[in-house]
Amino acid sequence: MMSNMQKKTDVILIGAGVMSATLGSLLKELAPEWEIKVFEKLANAGEESSNEWNNAGTGHAALCELNYTSEKPDGSIDIGKAININEQFQISRQFWSHLVQRNLIRNPQDFIMPIPHMSLVQGEENIVFLKKRFEALSNNPLFQGMEFSEDPEKLKEWIPLIMEGRTSDEPIAATKIDDGTDVNFGALTRLLFDHLKSNHVEIHYNHSVKDLKRTSEGLWEVKVHDLESGEIEHHTAKFVFIGCGGGSLPLLQKTGIPESKHIGGFPVSGLFMVCNNQELVEQHHGKVYGKAKVGAPPMSVPHLDTRFIDNKKALLFGPFAGFTPKFLKTGSNFDLIGSLKPDNVITMLSAGVKEMALTKYLIQQVMLSNEKRLEELREFIPTAKLEDWDIVVAGQRVQVIKDTEAGKGTLQFGTEVVSSTDGSVAALLGASPGASTAVHVMLEVLEKCFPEYMFEWEAKIKEMIPSFGLSLLDNPALLQDIQASTAKTLGLGEKELVYS
Ligand SMILES: Cc1cc2nc3c(=O)[nH]c(=O)nc-3n(C[C@H](O)[C@H](O)[C@H](O)COP(=O)(O)OP(=O)(O)OC[C@H]3O[C@@H](n4cnc5c(N)ncnc54)[C@H](O)[C@@H]3O)c2cc1C
Repeated sequence: MMSNMQKKTDVILIGAGVMSATLGSLLKELAPEWEIKVFEKLANAGEESSNEWNNAGTGHAALCELNYTSEKPDGSIDIGKAININEQFQISRQFWSHLVQRNLIRNPQDFIMPIPHMSLVQGEENIVFLKKRFEALSNNPLFQGMEFSEDPEKLKEWIPLIMEGRTSDEPIAATKIDDGTDVNFGALTRLLFDHLKSNHVEIHYNHSVKDLKRTSEGLWEVKVHDLESGEIEHHTAKFVFIGCGGGSLPLLQKTGIPESKHIGGFPVSGLFMVCNNQELVEQHHGKVYGKAKVGAPPMSVPHLDTRFIDNKKALLFGPFAGFTPKFLKTGSNFDLIGSLKPDNVITMLSAGVKEMALTKYLIQQVMLSNEKRLEELREFIPTAKLEDWDIVVAGQRVQVIKDTEAGKGTLQFGTEVVSSTDGSVAALLGASPGASTAVHVMLEVLEKCFPEYMFEWEAKIKEMIPSFGLSLLDNPALLQDIQASTAKTLGLGEKELVYS
């Protein structure tokens, strides 16, 4: 059925994941009078990657992820990326605190919990790396409170389940920082959409966006399929955000903007092992990140995570990476092939040739038997038994492929905002560090797409996010202040103000 309804609005957000939720919430604060509509193809918000069972829920602040600190050729540790990610997470903490303080989110424990973040390595060479990393980070104000130990007795206190029944003589070491978090991004997304709904944002579930076209007046016309009635609707907006997670690339390509060309996507699937034995769950308290295996992509670093899901403590191991041609968990096997266009075919093929080893690795991962997965788990929990663990399928991560200085068809592991030069449309691609840095990335969307409003909005943004535009590393007093106040508001354990 076709409806000729032409419905005009200021802003259309496509997709009801954490990114649209964050952008919508920022806009509601900055321009409350703007009319916002959301179209989501599923029946609820936060059902794809943002769902708590589809991601690892780590509040990425580079406290434990070894892939954010690399070893330079001279043997020293590059902490530049770790600093950036930590600063970005501080921005999320400030915005979330603002929402709690304004009572827009009532109970922070519904979406964020304190949990120690740890890195664990085995073998002399890895221990040397971890120690150097610890030395480089622990002197930095952003990473204060980090501890290092290679003493088995200390490690038994920190990670009893991991140390129990460990017979290998291989040396083992860990770092620990109590300032880490577990974030239930699914709950956060739902809370933000509840807040938007009660502030007159129209949210249309079971509505799939099929196409986007520029109108002669310079607006965007969005073609939407109402999956319940079967009707096709047309809505126009001055600004459209494509926040479709893995589904963003196909819609970005439909816009036809020059910035959408020569970009491809490489889907990586995921699996978690979930502990079904509550006694074991209670014996572990922390997010423990290991080192990626040789040939493994950086986002498939295995970790053993205490999680807080459905008001219960849970224990998850993974994610195991894998390959499917789908761009969304609920996507189609034709997604990858359908994203091949004349303008990106060379980029995609170049990546295909360059990334043969990665593709082979991912396919091998898909074929892993549960016994093989158990072997990997036993590197963390030597006494693990298969019957205590179930398998859940995680979300899809579509990594961006583009032509860079490093050559044609280079695989990117970060998140990327792609927008038109006139700022009327923006899309978010990529998946890492992902949801943790949603506020920083959505502020980037605002800066790129609404430069003419930034002067007017700056005071309000600074009220919500006092460190906006500043480096916290260069402003230690502000850092102390922010860490203490956000910890208090978000219930993350009060921090003492030591700076005066
Ligand atoms: C295995 C795994 C582990 C991860 N671990 C972490 C972690 O520990 N910490 C972290 O910060 N991040 C993590 N991430 C990344 C994080 O989950 C994502 O960055 C984040 O959830 C992306 O949010 P989004 O809103 O862009 O996408 P999504 O949450 O996927 O939302 C996109 C929405 O768009 C909808 N949609 C798609 N196409 C259309 C269409 N045509 N019309 C209408 N609606 C459409 C989808 O149904 C979906 O609801 C992980 C991801 C995965 C997969």
